[in-house]
Amino acid sequence: MEPKTALQKHAAAISARMKPISERANAWGLSAVFVPRFTTSRNTAYCLECGHSWKDKFLAKQPLLDACTCPACNKQLHRYNLYRRKAECMEYWSLVTVTGGVQVVRVTLAEQHMKKHQQATYSQTEVARFFIYENGRMVTVSKARLPLMGYWDHWVKNSRMEVRPLKIENDAHSAYFQIGLTAVYPRQRVLPVLLRNGFDGDFCTSAPQAVFYQLLNEPKIETLYKSGQKALLERFMAVGYRFNSLWSSVRIAIRHGYIVKDATLWADYIDLLKSLGRDTLNPVLVCPEDLHQAHRQALAAVRRRQAERERKARMERYKELREQMQQQEPEYQARMAAYAGFQLQDGEIRIVPLSTVAEVFNEGEALQHCVFVREYHLRKHSLLLSARIEGKPVETIEVDLNQYKILQARGMHNQPSAYNERIVRVLENHIPALRNMAQLRRNAS
Ligand SMILES: [Zn+2]
Repeated sequence: MEPKTALQKHAAAISARMKPISERANAWGLSAVFVPRFTTSRNTAYCLECGHSWKDKFLAKQPLLDACTCPACNKQLHRYNLYRRKAECMEYWSLVTVTGGVQVVRVTLAEQHMKKHQQATYSQTEVARFFIYENGRMVTVSKARLPLMGYWDHWVKNSRMEVRPLKIENDAHSAYFQIGLTAVYPRQRVLPVLLRNGFDGDFCTSAPQAVFYQLLNEPKIETLYKSGQKALLERFMAVGYRFNSLWSSVRIAIRHGYIVKDATLWADYIDLLKSLGRDTLNPVLVCPEDLHQAHRQALAAVRRRQAERERKARMERYKELREQMQQQEPEYQARMAAYAGFQLQDGEIRIVPLSTVAEVFNEGEALQHCVFVREYHLRKHSLLLSARIEGKPVETIEVDLNQYKILQARGMHNQPSAYNERIVRVLENHIPALRNMAQLRRNAS
């Protein structure tokens, strides 16, 4: 795109005057991001650097042997699992310099092409230049990228270096902030303002353009650099938004000279303190001598609290249920008195009426079905029975008392059990007896 703003025009003009990256820096870049490789298949080892191959049973049979020396080119080789005939590796490295009072980061895409029986070839393309101004503004000049789904760095290598629209103002984790973090050329020039803001030469595993941009735009990054909180810095650069809620605790740590070594664990620990309602501004809590132990203790406390909450909720529920059962019990028991003592035995199966509401409740809990929840025991024309083996409920049966018919017989999770047919048959055979018994009792009372 044509540069529009004054800043873009300025950056484009500097960019146009820039010399290509020196041979020396390019050679350094390759050696910094790639190592010569070998691979094995069957009993043969292949040097992917010079193309030589040799019989080496031992190397081929030991996939964990990671390094060897090529007998032809004498280079120290590292294992590469080449599954196809050839492979391409891609890496980025960057060069940090100052031109015309502007901080510049030049990012080069390096590629290693490897193929069995052939000498490795390397290619390098400078794909992006970041111009970072003292006031924190940034202009990107780069080659075009193919907007392919899932590929943010599919570069069009023969495209022109142009000013490209930049969205980092609202997305600090855009692709442009990801590239170039593998290696940085050691000869660097850095704007004084960045050094004043705390930059000490350590990019803390982030890309240089991301660090410089943040150092001029995000005061928290400056604070972390100046206080030497490298672990927090690394974490902040990766997931900044996640850290905002922890910032007041970070400041306490800084004020007390407490260096966080494991930022993820510490952040998690502070979150635990918060959920426990503890004071996350208390230096004694925020700066534990043994973070692992403090984290373990906080986690245990959170778990205890959770268990206690669950227990209380359960007790509350049971209390309600007990009250409900007690209210329903007299009427239900009176109705069931007509069936007291009734029982059927068929081999190991015993069928008995559920004679109290509490029994109905226990039946529902044991078989995980809805007999109690749906209040079957309140249905005046239903008789509930339980089929049991060795005292344990197997199925619950509902008999309609108007027609003396079995309405349903259900086991665990409302499914029929393996004994379903037998239970239904036995009960059906004895329904006339059940009916007579109920009538006799009713007449008698
Ligand atoms: Zn070789």
